[in-house]
Amino acid sequence: MTLLPRRLDQTCIEEFLSSFDNVLSDCDGVLWYGDTLLGQANEALNQLRALGKKIFYVTNNSTKSRDEYVAKCKRLGYIADKEEIVSSSYVMAQYLKQLDFNKKVYIIGMSGMTKELDDVGIGHSEVAPEPLTGHVFDLVDTIKLDPEVGAVAVGFDGHFSFPKIMRAASYLNNPNCLFICTNTDEKFPIENSSLIFPGTGCLVKCVEVVAERPPVVMGKPSEKMFSVISDKHQLKPSRTLMIGDRCNTDILFGKNCGLHTLVVLSGVTTMKDLEDWADSTDEEKHKLLADYYLPELGDLVSLLNNRNIQ
Ligand SMILES: [Mg+2]
Repeated sequence: MTLLPRRLDQTCIEEFLSSFDNVLSDCDGVLWYGDTLLGQANEALNQLRALGKKIFYVTNNSTKSRDEYVAKCKRLGYIADKEEIVSSSYVMAQYLKQLDFNKKVYIIGMSGMTKELDDVGIGHSEVAPEPLTGHVFDLVDTIKLDPEVGAVAVGFDGHFSFPKIMRAASYLNNPNCLFICTNTDEKFPIENSSLIFPGTGCLVKCVEVVAERPPVVMGKPSEKMFSVISDKHQLKPSRTLMIGDRCNTDILFGKNCGLHTLVVLSGVTTMKDLEDWADSTDEEKHKLLADYYLPELGDLVSLLNNRNIQ
């Protein structure tokens, strides 16, 4: 028996559609690539909505606020409202709110994080570049810590720098200071390039090493992301489908939360990856294998259209 995900086709489309009421879809690599729509993915998701499925956009990307995500969805032809957007920044804000956190958050990240904290009334440092300007040892005299800070949150930050690491590590030297991160994604694919685009995970790891303790992860594959959605919208895991392109976050998240899973091969994961994991004797690798796969989400459109004429 093969462990490979089943190719979603006309023979199993009815069984597939009847297995879920809710859809959680990853964004980058599934719905779009950067600012470009991926094929007919918008049509596919909108058709699932027309069939009565609840749709949620679930992303580890912490750089945009939910309002900015709604605008992006609409620009690319997706129906969306703010309640349907679940980003790692939003989960971070909800997590701190649930803890009744009443101090300030030192942010390594971008405005997507600060806007979500503003929404729940939690104070934070401003996000801005903090480059090293003088001698590194001068930082001992120039860095002043804010006594109000009670948490360090690390997300994607293109202006990551030595002074920021030093500041974060100094706050985290207090064992009562919370350490959280938006996600631990390793890297992003860049089309038609031999360059590698580093993900948030490498920034988190950098702070983690000097802090000598691990962060609480907000994004996929952490179950925190699902608990924020399911608490608010009463979603049953057994009636929920997770769609993603990165198996160690999206699909593992689905498996961790007891969801149905569909992997699309339009982003990070390749068919070769699926074959290697299916052949592996390491059971941890088997957790990365979704129930179904499609080359891309837009392929669902013809499957949905053809079921009407059968
Ligand atoms: Mg993705």
